[in-house]
Amino acid sequence: EFDRAYFQSYSHVGIHEEMIKDRMRTDTYRAAIMRHQHFIAGKVVMDVGCGTGILSIFCAQAGARRVYAVEASEIAVQANEIVKENDLSDKVIVLHGRVEDVNIEEKVDVIISEWMGYMLLYESMLASVIFARDKWLKPGGLILPSHATLYMAPVTDSERYCDSIDFWRDVYGIDMSAMLPLAKQCAFEEPVVDTISGENVLTWPFVVKYVDCYTVTAQELESITTKYRFASMMQAPLHGFAFWFDVEFNGPMHSHRKKRVKSDEVIVLSTAPEDAPTHWKQTMLYFYEPIEVKQDQIIEGSITLSQSKENVRFLNIHLEYFSGGRSFVK
Ligand code: SAH
Repeated sequence: EFDRAYFQSYSHVGIHEEMIKDRMRTDTYRAAIMRHQHFIAGKVVMDVGCGTGILSIFCAQAGARRVYAVEASEIAVQANEIVKENDLSDKVIVLHGRVEDVNIEEKVDVIISEWMGYMLLYESMLASVIFARDKWLKPGGLILPSHATLYMAPVTDSERYCDSIDFWRDVYGIDMSAMLPLAKQCAFEEPVVDTISGENVLTWPFVVKYVDCYTVTAQELESITTKYRFASMMQAPLHGFAFWFDVEFNGPMHSHRKKRVKSDEVIVLSTAPEDAPTHWKQTMLYFYEPIEVKQDQIIEGSITLSQSKENVRFLNIHLEYFSGGRSFVK
C-alpha cells in the first residue's frame, strides 16, 4: 500500500520536470556517464528507476549495447514511447515493474540510478539499488553514483526565525504572541527543506554517513547513529542543524577515496549550501528556541536516522544535543 502511494507520486509529470530541470543534477549525471564512456560502450546497463528514461538514453548515447530501464511507476509508459520515438528501441528496453520483481536474461556491467532523497536517505530507494547490485551486477561492474556522503552542520538563521516566529509579535499593530507556541510547533516540528547559504553555517560540516555503493548493505541503512561534535567558529544564535549530501561517480576500482576534497578527476554532485542550488536544497532541523553560542563553544550530541517501522519510505530523526550546560532531545 505504501509503495503504491510512493510509485503513484512518480506518475505525475511535475516531479520529473523538477528533476530534469535541475541542471546540476542532470548535467552531472550526463558528465559522469560520459566520463565512464570507455567502460559503458558496448556493455549492458541497468537503470534503476528510469523515470522518463533520460539516464538510460544518455547511456545509450555513450554507446551502451543494451540498457534495461526499470521503472515501477506509470511513467514507464511514457519512457517507452520516448525510447521508441528516439529510435532506441533496439538498445533501451523499458521494463515496467519494481526492480525487485523484474527478470532479465543476463547480468549487467553497469548500474545507474538516481535514488537520492531529501537528506539523502528519505524515500529509502538505495535499498532497491543494493538489491539490483546483488542480483544483477557482474563482479567488477560499475555503479553510478559510487559513493554518497551525508553531512550535518550547526546553522544560524535569524531571518527565517523572524519571518515565521517573531512575525506574530506585531501583526498590523496587534500583539499576536499567543500564536508563538503554535507557530514554533508548526514551523519546526518537522524538518524543513529549503536553501540556506554558506553564511548560515557556523562551522565545518560533520560526516553523518559515508556510503560505498559497492559494499553497503540494506541492513546498515535501517538505522544510522553518529556522535557529532562541533566547535562554533563564531558567536551567533544557533537555530538548528542543516543536512546535505554529495555523491561521487568513481570507477569500480576506486572503492575508497584518498582524501575528502573535490579533485578534478572525480565527478561530484553536491547539494552543499556553498554550491549551486539543486532541487534537494538542504534539510534543516530547527530548534524551537535559538541558543546563543560563543566562539569556540563545543556543540555535541548524537543523531539517529532510522527507517520508520510503519512506512520504510519515511525517516525518523532523533537528535540529542548538548552545549554550554544545556541539553535536549528532539
Ligand atoms: N532516473 C530518472 C528518475 C529518477 S527518480 C531521472 O533521473 O530523471 C526515481 C525513480 O525511481 C522514480 O521514477 C521511481 O518511481 C523509481 N523507482 C523507485 N524505486 C523503484 C523500484 N524499486 N523499482 C523500480 N522503479 C523504482
